[in-house]
Amino acid sequence: MPDLNPWLQRLGDGMRRHGSVIRAVQWAVMLFYAVLLVVPAMLPLPTSQARLLDNLTLLAQFLFWGIWWPFVLLSIVLFGRLWCGVLCPEGALSEWASQYGKGLGVPRGVRWAGWPTLAFCLTTVYGQLISVYDYAQAALLILGGSTVAAVIVGLLFARGKRVWCRYLCPVSGVFALLARLAPVHFQVDEQRWLENPAPRRPPPNCAPLLDIRRLRGATDCHACGRCSGQRDAVRLIARSSNAEILQTTANTLSPWEARLLLFGVIGLAMGAFQWTVSPWFIDLKQSLAQWLVGHDGLWALLDNAPWWLLTHYPQLNDSFSWLDGFCIVAYLGLSALVMGTSLLLLMRLAAWLSGDATDYRPLALTLTPLGGAGLFLGLSATTVKLLRYEGLLLEWVPAARAALLAAAIAWSLWLGWKRLQATVASPSRRLPAMACLVLASGLVGYGWWLQFWGW
Ligand code: SF4
Repeated sequence: MPDLNPWLQRLGDGMRRHGSVIRAVQWAVMLFYAVLLVVPAMLPLPTSQARLLDNLTLLAQFLFWGIWWPFVLLSIVLFGRLWCGVLCPEGALSEWASQYGKGLGVPRGVRWAGWPTLAFCLTTVYGQLISVYDYAQAALLILGGSTVAAVIVGLLFARGKRVWCRYLCPVSGVFALLARLAPVHFQVDEQRWLENPAPRRPPPNCAPLLDIRRLRGATDCHACGRCSGQRDAVRLIARSSNAEILQTTANTLSPWEARLLLFGVIGLAMGAFQWTVSPWFIDLKQSLAQWLVGHDGLWALLDNAPWWLLTHYPQLNDSFSWLDGFCIVAYLGLSALVMGTSLLLLMRLAAWLSGDATDYRPLALTLTPLGGAGLFLGLSATTVKLLRYEGLLLEWVPAARAALLAAAIAWSLWLGWKRLQATVASPSRRLPAMACLVLASGLVGYGWWLQFWGW
């Protein structure tokens, strides 16, 4: 295998030298993003005859949800958070606005580690309530609202920084989890950093406010390249995709990361992708509707909520009643709770059986490939749906889904086994712990099997 590191190092140094090119690319992405977000929301709703290539609304819908979202996630697994540092329009706008801001400093409340998890869960639920994947004004409300919030945060707190991206962005927690799998990252040699105290280069502006000298791994780094070569100690290098997860310890891991993975990325997201095809959702709704009819609750069956609260497009026969809204929140909440709690209990049991009860959070991280694959499968279901509307059959899709799911399960189990091998000396303890990990992967795999094949 050729040594890629000299080439990667040149690439990282090139990113630092050509920061102006990266900024120009960011402005171009911002412009593209603004047009695709704002213009379709002002156009009439597409008719049933409209096609992707002759209707800007459908094209924007396909580009946002069919291409942008699933492939940004894939890019994080392949290249780390390069998207955040080089292409994300929201982060670039927030940083640009912050240069003209008040620079008040980052309050303690903003630095609370639970914000990315909470923001991810709230935007996921809200997105389902207003059908963000299907309607341009819903997309403008959620994505545009997030961009406005990012600019306001930029204007308030630290000058020239990305406080929004570091502490508040609804997807930053998900990206941080997936970036652990990236086979490249900016590695810092702390010893070399200390030995070269007089840099010939000015200190770089690390927009997500990281302590570059102590940077470990790709989790928080936005891979912007601004620090490449600093003190001859920072280099873009290749690494094993398993390394960062296997090196994580209970002390270096925030409890929120495991919560976000088990309850949010796996449990909640599965509910969000699944409720439209779930017979359990229909049963829940029918039972509640019958109860409401018998208890003077007909108001809950009306679909008179505004579009920004619940989907409301009567001209397309697509409106949610209050009962629909309640059932969506209940289904997503139950999915997050049941799946997340089951996985958490299995991880705790695995850690206990392995002899180190505190190791359950690092063990939970071994499910990251399965969590990432689930998000990709769920999001790419929109891609497939939109392409099938265009007449493409895509008969290979079920086989590709099964292969991706099987590969993700195998990868998660491999990570679990390697972790147990490294931390548990006795095979008689390792095997029962591994059985818990097999059960956990099986449970997640079963959830996806139900959605794509079982129902
Ligand atoms: S440590 Fe900061 S400056 Fe360096 S690449 Fe990462 S985000 Fe950029």
